[in-house]
Amino acid sequence: MTNRTFTIIKPNAVAAGNAGKIIDAIIEGGFRVIALRLTYFSRNQAERFYAVHKGKPFFNELVDFMTSGPVYVGVVEHENAVAEFRRLIGATDPAKADEGTIRRRFGESLQCNAIHGSDSDENARIEWSQFFSDDDIIIAEYR
Ligand code: ATP
Ligand code: MG
Repeated sequence: MTNRTFTIIKPNAVAAGNAGKIIDAIIEGGFRVIALRLTYFSRNQAERFYAVHKGKPFFNELVDFMTSGPVYVGVVEHENAVAEFRRLIGATDPAKADEGTIRRRFGESLQCNAIHGSDSDENARIEWSQFFSDDDIIIAEYR
């Protein structure tokens, strides 16, 4: 099944100048980038995005981190996109991520782990809808 997932190149990776290398790794991993944009998270956006973690000890720091600088948000396409993308990025903790994964290569810590990938088809759509309109996505059909 060909489908789509949502990604964020997180502030630590953009600040370190690694966004281009990460986009390369995504493309070399066989994904088609169908939407991509530089933006910033407001505190409200970050709190909404990570609402599932509200109340956890790392939540406030996570919001501080995600609002600390520019991010790239994007939608990528691949067969079985959600699972394949999470395989490409690796485990949440870069120290535990497999060799060659994006988090292993560019993650700095459990929090500053360079990249996000949605955890279900349903969440992917909810997440990209915070940043892209249907028109932004539909344009990919014409390439
Ligand atoms: P993401 O949702 O960003 O793709 P994930 O699904 O692998 O990551 P989650 O459990 O959803 O992991 O955690 C969301 C994010 O919160 C992590 O990517 C990381 O930046 C941060 N985080 C998770 N657990 C911790 C922790 N124990 N301490 C600090 N930060 C954490
Ligand atoms: Mg998650």
